[in-house]
Amino acid sequence: MDAIVVRRGETSPTVADLPRPDPGPDEVLVRTLRVGVDGTDHEVIEGNHGGFPEGEDLLVLGHEAVGVVAEAEGTPFEEGDVVVPTVRRPPVEGTNEYFERGEPDMAPPEDCRECGIDGAHGFMAEYFTAPAEHLVPVPEDLAEWGFLVEPVSISEKAIEHAVASRSAFDWDPDAGLVLGNGSLGLLTLAMLDQRGYDRTYCLGRRDRPDPTIDVIEELGATYVDSRRTPVAEIPDAHEAMDFVYEATGYARHAFESIEALAPGGVGALLGVPEPWEFEIDGGRLHKEFVMNNKALVGSVNSNVSHFEAAVETLGEFPAWFVDDLVTGVHDLGNYEAAFAQDETTIKTAVQFSQI
Ligand code: NAP
Ligand code: BGC
Ligand code: ZN
Repeated sequence: MDAIVVRRGETSPTVADLPRPDPGPDEVLVRTLRVGVDGTDHEVIEGNHGGFPEGEDLLVLGHEAVGVVAEAEGTPFEEGDVVVPTVRRPPVEGTNEYFERGEPDMAPPEDCRECGIDGAHGFMAEYFTAPAEHLVPVPEDLAEWGFLVEPVSISEKAIEHAVASRSAFDWDPDAGLVLGNGSLGLLTLAMLDQRGYDRTYCLGRRDRPDPTIDVIEELGATYVDSRRTPVAEIPDAHEAMDFVYEATGYARHAFESIEALAPGGVGALLGVPEPWEFEIDGGRLHKEFVMNNKALVGSVNSNVSHFEAAVETLGEFPAWFVDDLVTGVHDLGNYEAAFAQDETTIKTAVQFSQI
């Protein structure tokens, strides 16, 4: 079968001919429909994040998949069910407490592998196998957009943890700021809108005309250009934010977010930056945190409960939003187009088969 891989020593994806996988006990064989591409895939391809499976020189890419059960193998699934796989799997040496608790998203990196990212093959192949416990059912009418379930689940988790950090008092957020107008940022902006935030903002660094700014404004949010309004100046230029969601991977934003928050506000940090040394006024930020009861929450990955919530959220997005966000679904023969990074591309996917 055809699979899209990155090989050791290379920094662009290629197609490899690999054997079709055989499902093991309690595993399902899935025929892949579509697999999305995000910023993490580009980091993996460039060799800046993740790694190859032990003893192998290639990695099957892709962690945002939707497919159809081809062989249910005695699991609770049935042939023809539409499913989305979760991303984390136990380490090669065996399972651990995080997986046993159903919270692999809380495992530190050394206690898990990530399909298509770190130490385990991903889903960009005509077929993949997955343990039934790592598959989440999706209604058939959402199949074409099912590759968005994984990225939405990332924000389901981050928002859940941020809200939980504010649960000890009466927190009623109405101003929300998303840093980053990539696919994760825009999906999260739509989620804040759905959750009843009165005023939303999204930060980018693009000139108009730009398709992401169109989506931001169509969602009723305000576009903030970081070249004119640095994050720390947003309270003066607009207002202080109850919630900040960082999805740029730009390390300064983690610290500047503290200044963008209103008293009692919380920031969720999602970016996965490279090491970068820079100066900050640690004393001022420390005091700002303490005297204004602010919080920052780091969040990575997501578990089955977040995938289930994401299926609901995806089903409630307005149709125009998903249409505008997904700028390209490319057949395997034209897979390179799904990895293009230009200013007309927002979210892309590779299509392996149709339902
Ligand atoms: P992406 O497509 O690369 O989006 C990042 C966006 O941030 C881009 O649109 C970029 O603008 C913008 N940006 C970067 N630096 C900026 C700055 N200084 N000012 C204003 N805008 C800036 O990536 P993504 O897929 O949306 O993911 C976003 C981040 O989250 C990445 O770091 C990714 O690794 C991380 N992530 C984390 C998790 C997790 O579980 N924690 C899950 C998924 C993704 P331009 O396009 O104009 O350059
Ligand atoms: C994936 C997550 C993963 C994270 C860190 C993200 O792009 O969506 O599932 O945990 O990268 O590797
Ligand atoms: Zn991702």
